[in-house]
Amino acid sequence: MQDVQLRIPDILRYAAEQHGDLTMPSLDEEGSWNRDTYSAAWQRARRLTGAIASLGLAHQSRIASLALNTRRHMELYYGVTGAGHILHTINPRFSEEQIRFTVEQADDAVIFFDPAFSKQAEAIAKACPSVGKFVALCSADHLPDLSLPGLTDYESFIAAASPGDGPSGLSERDGAFLCYTSGTTGNPKGVLYSHRSCMIHALAASAPGNFNIGPGDVVLPCASMYHATAWALPMVAPMNGARLVLPGSKLDGETLLDLCAREGVTHAWGVPTIWKAVLDAALQDNRKLPALRRIYIGGSAVPPQLKRDFADHLDVEIVQIWGMTETSPLGVIGTPSAALKRQPQQKQDEILHAKQGRVPFGIELDIVDEAGKALPHDGATSGRLMVRGPWVVNQYFGHEAPVTDAHGWFDTGDVATLDPLGYMQITDRTKDIIKSGGEWISSIELENTAVEHPDITSAAAIGLPHPKWDERPLLVFSKRAGSSVSSADALAFLASHLPKWWVPEDAVIADELPLTATGKVDKKQLRQIHAGHYQA
Ligand code: ADP
Repeated sequence: MQDVQLRIPDILRYAAEQHGDLTMPSLDEEGSWNRDTYSAAWQRARRLTGAIASLGLAHQSRIASLALNTRRHMELYYGVTGAGHILHTINPRFSEEQIRFTVEQADDAVIFFDPAFSKQAEAIAKACPSVGKFVALCSADHLPDLSLPGLTDYESFIAAASPGDGPSGLSERDGAFLCYTSGTTGNPKGVLYSHRSCMIHALAASAPGNFNIGPGDVVLPCASMYHATAWALPMVAPMNGARLVLPGSKLDGETLLDLCAREGVTHAWGVPTIWKAVLDAALQDNRKLPALRRIYIGGSAVPPQLKRDFADHLDVEIVQIWGMTETSPLGVIGTPSAALKRQPQQKQDEILHAKQGRVPFGIELDIVDEAGKALPHDGATSGRLMVRGPWVVNQYFGHEAPVTDAHGWFDTGDVATLDPLGYMQITDRTKDIIKSGGEWISSIELENTAVEHPDITSAAAIGLPHPKWDERPLLVFSKRAGSSVSSADALAFLASHLPKWWVPEDAVIADELPLTATGKVDKKQLRQIHAGHYQA
């Protein structure tokens, strides 16, 4: 058969040719909405490829973005990879030191930055003199007044260029995106996605049993394009003739509610906190979202109550997804398999409410004990979750040694169960495990139970040193405004739902829980704050 290379830019070229008139509403960096079509986006991406070619960089140089979900970021996805270079999507929520580390390790030649991240751009320029050019993602009249090497605005940069086709020898094995995990322990770790791995991942993710995206659908990624390519949606939407809505910096509940209604969003993505805020806004204003069919939620565990609330009040299905930077990111999805569909409805609900999901074609999962011995897939035994597949990391960027074992398995750092129907449930991250008197307590189950209390809005369970039990859980939670729920109420609520020995000795009320750069509750920080809580 023909040896056609699977290359990222061909996705947008296809969308321009076959679905060219579909609009891609985007909240621009200047604060106004743009309604370019796929056809316009492709023309602009080709100009960008031409402009980049004129810089004369070596093949596969790294070019960084410091940007949110906008059309210009989308153009970078295609224009940079099309030019044969690698787009390093910097996470602007990383600390200055983490950003410096990633820019240095990636050896970025150019940085495209949203003017909202001018501070980060200036810090990079100061710390990394090897970055030769900065391009502000805006038009000339919005160019920020900064002193950065080679500073220009994006619109002038691409206006001056002729459309480029990129190198004819671009291989599907070449690198396309360089994404870093936050590395809560040690430095961030880079994962280099190839054109091929992205393409296979996006094709698999699109399938009816997975994201189920097709012509006429309207896709809203509220997961960040700087974080593991936003579940590949900037590729999935154009390759399937679906519209893509890019919300920029506006991710509050009210705005997203309006946006979903205005654009007729049918499928949306994001972390639980974002969609909880949308739910609250909808309930408060008694609004419905008739076009919205599914929200895919991942990044941290989805409280079953959130799923029930969306179904009961808004008739919207929540589908849980699990993944990580190292898995491109889709690893499992909470849609029913044929075998699950044959189970009684109650059993189906139980599984889909509590568990992260099952693997799409391409991904394999296993669980092993500390010694690496395989554990039973009985839905009860939990162990280290191992993953392998064509869109799973082999080695971290800048490192020769593989991070997989002799059989290609990558240790995810998550602890999970696998049941006989193939459904996986995360019980913890290895670094967040609570081990009390030698027995594991699932922090996720404690948290999911806590937020079932009507007055508890978010909760984190952390393990703290304890004189008698080595470690005991502490619940830190925030409460609904105006509620008088006390720590004792929270603990009594947990006691009515969970084994007695799981119930923490204490609970602490916090105004809000600290978050990491990838939007997860920062348990490391919470453990530091409350370190001595159980010590006399
Ligand atoms: P970082 O590790 O930098 O926060 P990642 O996106 O790579 O960024 O994080 C991946 C981790 O997020 C997974 O290993 C898992 O612990 C957690 N995670 C992702 N999705 C889910 C989910 N649906 N339920 C529970 N945990 C999840």
